[in-house]
Amino acid sequence: MSESKAKQFSTRIEKLSDWIYAIDQQMVRAFVLVGEKRALCVDTGVNPIDIQAHIRSITDLPVTLCLTHSDRDHVANLDQFGEAFVHPAERPLLQSFPQVRFHEVREGDSFDLGGKRLTVVDCPGHTPGSIALLEEEEKVLFSGDTVSLGPVYLFGLYRDTKRYRETLCRLKQMAADGRFCTVYPCHNLCPVGPEILADLISCTDGILDGSISGKPAGLTGPGRENVQLYQSGRCGIYWEKPEKDRASFLTIS
Ligand SMILES: [Zn+2]
Repeated sequence: MSESKAKQFSTRIEKLSDWIYAIDQQMVRAFVLVGEKRALCVDTGVNPIDIQAHIRSITDLPVTLCLTHSDRDHVANLDQFGEAFVHPAERPLLQSFPQVRFHEVREGDSFDLGGKRLTVVDCPGHTPGSIALLEEEEKVLFSGDTVSLGPVYLFGLYRDTKRYRETLCRLKQMAADGRFCTVYPCHNLCPVGPEILADLISCTDGILDGSISGKPAGLTGPGRENVQLYQSGRCGIYWEKPEKDRASFLTIS
């Protein structure tokens, strides 16, 4: 493989509980959730793999695919599926997959796997149609990129920091109401507890009111020169100041 190709990550299957498996590609993980009658694949990873073979190494049950959102590190291998469930606000971002038949999911829709039911929770902000999946009996939340130690990407097209903050506050209230106790994120440490929601909220507050200063993020690639890392507690967010708010080094005489 030429060095000019994007960095490749190794893939391993990790069993996280009696029904929760991760297809772990180091910088991101997809999940395979196995019920008594069906399995649900949540996202499809970042590097090309034979994802169907990986799923078959976990279960022989029929598999449904649901995407938490459409960022590229969640949709590699999507073309190995004939159909997928996704929030309608993500559809414009998935036009490079004309061969996949997309079905819409929205808040309150659920996947009955037999003994396990995953219910869709709308989580706009990181992307317009980001969702999480809630299993109410075991009180676990599959959070996509919305809840993780991060750094959560909130720069560039389609991100909305204010809506992201509203989503975090709603999830924090759901956790306080006892709806979930454990969070399975696609990035960084997994699982984590809902207490990190307070860190993410204070991080977005600090970004929005200017009370947290960013540090150089060190991200490479076009359009990332002005991205900074903002941190609060255990969590981080990559964010970019609007151009009008950036320090200018021009002096006007
Ligand atoms: Zn993402």
